[in-house]
Amino acid sequence: MKELDNLNPQQREAALYTEGPLLILAGAGSGKTSTMTHRIAYLIKEKGVSPYRILAVTFTNKAAGEMRDRVEALIGGGVNMWILTFHSACLRILRKHAGLLGYKDGFAVYDPTDQKAAMKSIVKELNLDDKRYTPAYFLNIISSCKEKAMTPDDYLQTYGEDYKTKIVYQAYQSYETLLKKNNAMDFDDLLLNAVRVFQRDEAALLEYQQRFQYIMVDEYQDTNSIQYTFVKMLAEQHQNICVVGDDDQCIYQWRGADIRNILEFEKDFKNAKVVKLEQNYRSTGNILAAAHSVIEKNRGRKDKKLWTEQEPGNKIVYFRADDEREEARYVAQEIDRLKTKERNYSDFAILYRTNAQSRTFEEALSGREIPYRVLGGLRYYDRKEVKDIISYMRLVQNPADDLALVRIINEPKRGIGAKTLEKLQALAKVREVSLFQVLADEEVVGSLSAKASAGIRNLVEVVSQYSAEQENLRVSDIYDGMLVKTGYLKVLEDQNTLEAEGRIENLMEFKSVIYDYEKEDMQLSLLEFMERIALMAEVDNHDENENAVVLMTMHSAKGLEFPFVFLPGMEDGLFPGWRAFDREEGLEEERRLCYVGMTRAKERLCLTSANLRTLYGKTDLTRESQFLRELDKRLIDGDAIYEKRKSARDPAFLDGYSRPKPFNPFQQLKEVKQQVKEKAASTEHFEPGDEVVHPKFGRGTVDKVDHGSIICVSFLDGSYKKLAAGLAPLSRYIPKKERD
Ligand code: ATP
Ligand code: MG
Repeated sequence: MKELDNLNPQQREAALYTEGPLLILAGAGSGKTSTMTHRIAYLIKEKGVSPYRILAVTFTNKAAGEMRDRVEALIGGGVNMWILTFHSACLRILRKHAGLLGYKDGFAVYDPTDQKAAMKSIVKELNLDDKRYTPAYFLNIISSCKEKAMTPDDYLQTYGEDYKTKIVYQAYQSYETLLKKNNAMDFDDLLLNAVRVFQRDEAALLEYQQRFQYIMVDEYQDTNSIQYTFVKMLAEQHQNICVVGDDDQCIYQWRGADIRNILEFEKDFKNAKVVKLEQNYRSTGNILAAAHSVIEKNRGRKDKKLWTEQEPGNKIVYFRADDEREEARYVAQEIDRLKTKERNYSDFAILYRTNAQSRTFEEALSGREIPYRVLGGLRYYDRKEVKDIISYMRLVQNPADDLALVRIINEPKRGIGAKTLEKLQALAKVREVSLFQVLADEEVVGSLSAKASAGIRNLVEVVSQYSAEQENLRVSDIYDGMLVKTGYLKVLEDQNTLEAEGRIENLMEFKSVIYDYEKEDMQLSLLEFMERIALMAEVDNHDENENAVVLMTMHSAKGLEFPFVFLPGMEDGLFPGWRAFDREEGLEEERRLCYVGMTRAKERLCLTSANLRTLYGKTDLTRESQFLRELDKRLIDGDAIYEKRKSARDPAFLDGYSRPKPFNPFQQLKEVKQQVKEKAASTEHFEPGDEVVHPKFGRGTVDKVDHGSIICVSFLDGSYKKLAAGLAPLSRYIPKKERD
């Protein structure tokens, strides 16, 4: 097979070593995935192995699809073989054998939404306080149990019989019963049940053991315990198992991945052959050395050093911006500069730590009319939660905005189904009024279900209040109020899932958007703000030809490569991120993520950070990332760092700081809630003659208080305002000397 000539001796050795256990342990970009696809092609083309007898598993559908394409290209045609994700491989097995576990044919697979609905009914059935025991709370525990193959009984035995454990046990038990009754499995069950089939039915196990003469697993470092068992059982007979991975790239420990699976492969499979690939084909010498200088700081790793035949190439460029907007402008400007005729926009990737960072880059790229795509996620302004909050604010600005209202009438769930909404809309049409006016009609609301009428009353009240006061409120206060008082935030918080966490991050980031505008114009009105946002949200430079700069998180970039890579946000607290501060191993996992990010680059790598960063609506002075400080300074291009930045890299500058607090969206969330609460509580204190300050109007004196709820203030600038107590961001004026 002439394609094998493209491989280096070690890669070829691995591709040809088809009998017996094989571990390909190698660093990034050393051709692990390439070797594996060549190995599959070799088995089929040269050794005449039927594709039917090969199993190749990986983690994402995208990776599985790419692997299939590469194999088909090598053997020149389509193959009907199992190149699948873990979940889909297990599902195929279960479709045939789940009867053994008591499932009927055609069992359902419950996605997270179904799971939540199921758990909700259980919480109700068990008469639990659904504020304290949310479905998400139980589902998280259950998921991690299932990852360890822990049944409800196991759970009780392991964690003892205290009050709380017993409740979890009951919920778990009932959940299992309910799934069974509905002939359904959740995603975790797919893996778990496939393993159970193997454990209980020797014939079934034997069937697959015999069938899969050759088994291959890519990204093996990210397998969890149940995936590990699955693979191990299947490989028992033929022992022709080839796993491919890099312990330095294990980035899913927080989801149960167990790095030991790869480190102990040689113990699990006696006589395993280990092939180390040491030549990197992806990156220039400098990029490689830089990545190595960071990852070598991790303890407990198998030391391996990559080399390359490539030139050292450009040094790593590092740029410290004044703030995150300058950072984004710099990146956009660099892309403009480096994008020559021979280059495509798709040669550039911006890989960030959290999705919330994408916004400033989207704005900067749009500003230069550079096409971009947000991979594995939506553009910031396309994200559901962002659209929702914008709709709330549009509604405050103009309650007659029916479109905005329709979008959020049942977000969070207020018990307004599609039918009810239709009726309400019809009524609005007949009466020739806005939908909001219909909702404000007590007679109409009274006819709805108890839940719906309570929900609608709250919505109408909150929106009317803020709408009436919009002139007197800062945009950021309106935003806080909408999030908290409509219950929108609460629902997300209660979900307690990774997805909800991401949504909260994005919502907190929306505060940065507002702050940016408020910084420029203290008197910014809601109307002006909404106009600017509308422009941003409508910019659509989506490029269908995919010739666009790619934006995504470092996590989703695993296995991919790009000529030009930008890693922004190199600051303590952001990267390494706030999650690293909770757990000891957190920092090492973040360092591996940094290694993954850096090694995506083929030709040029650029790191950036911002001296002042506004994220999740909070502005903070930052300190350069620990990873930057670990990076071999000789590999960083000093010339590219503008002179005025010099102080930022000065060690004395660094030592001047105490350790910065991590950017934690949940801390911000607490503050948002606190502020709304304080304002609500601070109503009755003002009396005529009181000196006050208002963030928008400045200093003034209270003239009178009407009905205890309208505070009339004459401000120093000559204006006279009537402000709603409990809503207006009014505080007592404290002369400077008292403040000190
Ligand atoms: P990662 O750890 O990021 O998953 P990997 O080890 O799987 O990386 P590949 O993606 O297989 O690496 O290969 C990296 C790059 O090197 C690809 O562009 C691939 O085509 C190229 N490459 C691999 N082996 C060789 C070789 N022997 N000769 C030339 N190029 C190679
Ligand atoms: Mg790979």
